[in-house]
Amino acid sequence: MWYFRSPEIVFGEDALDHLDTLQGKRAFIVTDPMMLELGFVDLVAAHLTDAGLTVGTFPDVEPEPSVQTIRTGAEKMLAFEPDWIVGLGGGSAMDAAKAMWALYENPGLDPADINPFEPLGLRRKARLIVIPTTSGTGSEATWATVLTDTAENRKLGTGSPEMVADIAIVDPALPAKMPPRLTADTGLDALTHAIEGYTCSLRNDFSDAVCLKAAQLVFEYLPRAVKNGDDAEAREKMHNAATLAGLGFGNAMAALAHSMGHSLGAIFHVPHGRAVALFLPYTIQFIQRGDAETRFHEISRFLGLPASTPDEGAISLVTAIRDLSREVGQPLSLKETLGDGVSRADFDAALDALVANAEADSVIAMGDRIPTTDEVRQLFEYAYEGKNIDF
Ligand code: NAD
Repeated sequence: MWYFRSPEIVFGEDALDHLDTLQGKRAFIVTDPMMLELGFVDLVAAHLTDAGLTVGTFPDVEPEPSVQTIRTGAEKMLAFEPDWIVGLGGGSAMDAAKAMWALYENPGLDPADINPFEPLGLRRKARLIVIPTTSGTGSEATWATVLTDTAENRKLGTGSPEMVADIAIVDPALPAKMPPRLTADTGLDALTHAIEGYTCSLRNDFSDAVCLKAAQLVFEYLPRAVKNGDDAEAREKMHNAATLAGLGFGNAMAALAHSMGHSLGAIFHVPHGRAVALFLPYTIQFIQRGDAETRFHEISRFLGLPASTPDEGAISLVTAIRDLSREVGQPLSLKETLGDGVSRADFDAALDALVANAEADSVIAMGDRIPTTDEVRQLFEYAYEGKNIDF
């Protein structure tokens, strides 16, 4: 027996108007300072006020939110007593809203103790609406929340099936404000979700369908969204792609590129999407070289790429990802990603921690080939130099 979990998804132009129909008393918006600056908080608050709700706001979520921020926001939430929580922003704000909600319903809970196996008893006090403003993480459709333990420099990938939002509002007017670099980073995050969701060990017929469609949309529309942020069709398709990919990997799993990307992000503070997408071609090459049957070629076939054999299909997919990354201005090696501020010696000094963090991330075991510790180290080293995987 298996489940496919999804929020009610309101999508397309003017999706935000759905907020006018909300029934409730008090809504608490969890967001970040940029959302205030862009006027999105006022916009959402106006809809909530029209629906007759009193609105409170916690606008202090930082990128890759820390456990401390979750505790602070949950305290404010306890004082405000909302019956709706609204996560407004990118993955950071949406994840923060989910985790604060868990603490609001369970005061005193340690965020690190949130896990899929312990019931949280959510929805006794409040329900959750999420409104993504980036087109990438898919957090609007998943039960995951990724927090940063700043004391230990590592990411805590946690969550509970109860944390799937009640409503996701996927309105393309919001990501339309993203600058090109953020559009590229987050769009490649969606692609990584789609490909790892389709190829991880928990894949299933339902997640397969949405992963394939999401991958196709990203290849077709991401370059347009990056080149011209005002391309309304590209923005809408990319916003849908991110949510579809979230449904896909959220109902299956992520895999090796995510464990390496999380590890890199926690230590060198590379934005999430850029980090996971950087490793994707390397991890595809690595997995394809293993003994297991793989299905990268199925994605290639769906995309119309050469894939007469599994090997040819995997090579085509790697080439297509690299071409897309290049087209949207993304780095292809770790050296290029870290830039001049980080020397080879800095990278070498961090390598033990990079490997340990990646191995501590459970998604590392979700691919068709599970690397040994030495292989994880080599994967980082090859990605640093931009070398094709030959082991
Ligand atoms: P983000 O939420 O960290 O935002 C990055 C920056 O972009 C912030 O400064 C934000 O204010 C700004 N921003 C957001 N929307 C904007 C817009 N429309 N216009 C201009 N600026 C805007 O970035 P993200 O990539 O969306 O989220 C990354 C976080 O999500 C990471 O912590 C990652 O681990 C997590 N994540 C969660 C899941 C999940 O399923 N829960 C999946 C993938 C990633």
